[in-house]
Amino acid sequence: MLRTVDLFKHFGGFVAVDGVDFELEEGEKHAIIGPNGAGKTTFFHLITGHLRPDRGRVEYEGRELTGLPPHRIVKAGLARSFQRVNVYPRMSVFENVQVALMARDDRHFTMFRIGARFNRDETLDLLALVGLAEEAEEQAGELAYGKQKQLELAIALAERPRVLLLDEPTAGMSPSETEEAIRLIHEIADARGLTLLFTEHDMTVVFGIADRITVLHNGGVIASGTPEAVRGDPQVRSVYLGEGGDGAA
Ligand code: ADP
Ligand code: MG
Repeated sequence: MLRTVDLFKHFGGFVAVDGVDFELEEGEKHAIIGPNGAGKTTFFHLITGHLRPDRGRVEYEGRELTGLPPHRIVKAGLARSFQRVNVYPRMSVFENVQVALMARDDRHFTMFRIGARFNRDETLDLLALVGLAEEAEEQAGELAYGKQKQLELAIALAERPRVLLLDEPTAGMSPSETEEAIRLIHEIADARGLTLLFTEHDMTVVFGIADRITVLHNGGVIASGTPEAVRGDPQVRSVYLGEGGDGAA
């Protein structure tokens, strides 16, 4: 469904993504893992158009996406959430999703013209899907952290993506928020028939969600396969043990 070929990005003399060949299959839940600084976020930015690769290609359903701006890539069917929360804090939860739907439909708006009824049903459906039906009228910035991340999910889903990219979806969450987020991500991916690509450093989350794992280290792929295969891979083990990780990979 999605493929990168020899994808490469450097910052000055530092190589962040080093010739990555990668394939995402329709319907899978695929984790990109690796120690801090491995290049996971940069790899995501290259796919979603937030950074331009110095070399290599990104293809989606046989179509080349390389170098397209982010909004074109979203329109093509790939939506993402960011490692840091990205909502309009002063707007209500409802309005955050409503505005995302307006953007998708290319509606121009001013804050004054947001009619309460505009896309009301779809907005409420999305809020229910991410478990925020009760919080619709709350100010987004006042939500607990985990709930803000749920709101981000609703905003990403407003684009009606076929591929959802999540950069460390549980970063900063408490253990109970994390557990809830894992459950929610499964539920949403299944309900919407989404293909999922996510980065993560928490192994509990990785093994709770992924049916395929690709391991990045120093910008390059060192392993890719089923969770069992990756868990047993000697090079993966040495990277995680060598970095003082918990060795769970
Ligand atoms: P990860 O998400 O796996 O933790 P990143 O992709 O964020 O890794 O970063 C990979 C490496 O690239 C890190 O060493 C980081 O410091 C460096 N890097 C990322 N973005 C930039 C940038 N805009 N300018 C310079 N260096 C960067
Ligand atoms: Mg990152």
